[in-house]
Amino acid sequence: MNIIILGAPGAGKGTLSDALVKELGIPKISTGDMLRKEVKDCTPLGLKAKEIMARGALVSDQIINELLRNRVKQNDCKKGFMLDGFPRTINQAEELFKITEELGYKIDLVIDLVVSEELIVKRLTNRRVCRKCGGNFNLFSSHSKKPGICDFCGGELYQRADDNEATIRNRLQVYAKDTQPLINYYAKKGLLTELAADNGVLEMVKAFKKIVMEQKIK
Ligand code: ADP
Ligand code: ZN
Repeated sequence: MNIIILGAPGAGKGTLSDALVKELGIPKISTGDMLRKEVKDCTPLGLKAKEIMARGALVSDQIINELLRNRVKQNDCKKGFMLDGFPRTINQAEELFKITEELGYKIDLVIDLVVSEELIVKRLTNRRVCRKCGGNFNLFSSHSKKPGICDFCGGELYQRADDNEATIRNRLQVYAKDTQPLINYYAKKGLLTELAADNGVLEMVKAFKKIVMEQKIK
């Protein structure tokens, strides 16, 4: 099964896809995680992306499309894949169509995570991420057992550079302008299903399974 998970920053794309990796046994492809790794490793791409990400703007389609193409080509995607944070523009969606067509894949389902803006800001300002394994925690809803320490691997939790209020506001504007049009784009293709994302991860996974069953997606 090849899935796209859409939704505003903070809607829970990372949280849902992490949970689904375990359920479905297919890889999650997060362009945000890939970019953060490039930044951490100080690669030429990372050096370029760092400032763009800190502002909450989008990295150029050309760079992201190339990154995505190389990732989807890898062998582990043959059993299916989940896209988190890609596509984010119509150009990226059209490129994705080309890439999947070339590889003989098709997108089976696009999930749109729906959540109020108020909850988004609350989630993002309280988000903490593990430096080592990327695990997601939240100070107000799903905090780690020991403060500042990852439950999964014992790594140190930190606040992402773009999870401050000014950048969050900018990310939400960018989302409304560049990414929201994808909802209509995929609805027209008959691929879009909305999923309420204001509850916990267990509810989201349950709702996801129901969608997959109802639509008979393999
Ligand atoms: P969120 O969905 O919470 O905003 P992500 O981890 O998906 O976070 O993305 C963080 C940042 O990485 C974005 O604000 C943007 O600068 C960059 N980025 C990630 N994915 C893309 C993409 N598909 N196209 C352009 N920029 C991207
Ligand atoms: Zn960890």
